[in-house]
Amino acid sequence: MLGCYCGNSIAFQDCCEPYIKGITNTPTAEKLMRSRYSAFATGAADYLVNTTHISKRKLHNKKDILAWSQSNTWLKLEVLKSTENTVTFKAYYLDENLKAQVHYEHSTFKLENGKWFYVVGEY
Ligand SMILES: [Zn+2]
Repeated sequence: MLGCYCGNSIAFQDCCEPYIKGITNTPTAEKLMRSRYSAFATGAADYLVNTTHISKRKLHNKKDILAWSQSNTWLKLEVLKSTENTVTFKAYYLDENLKAQVHYEHSTFKLENGKWFYVVGEY
């Protein structure tokens, strides 16, 4: 594969994978968002749960996340705008019926003890 799932031109192993494996923390909200997209693309549900802010974690159960990530085919991420703690993006995917879908979201993130967490998304 050329480039990372998240759309960066560097390879997954050098881009999002070290974050997903927990080797390093994501330095910015945008990098967390990108790595969470790559986690969806690779079915890394633990990472998606662990990077969701503790106050919101009960709303996202691992089984549902895994089912959602695996029933879709993740095609492309497009980051439209990012600030220090927000990212607006479009995620392109095929749903379980292979119908093309676009998920548009404005996400808010929070830095806590040196780690970025996903707090909430507006669709
Ligand atoms: Zn990446």
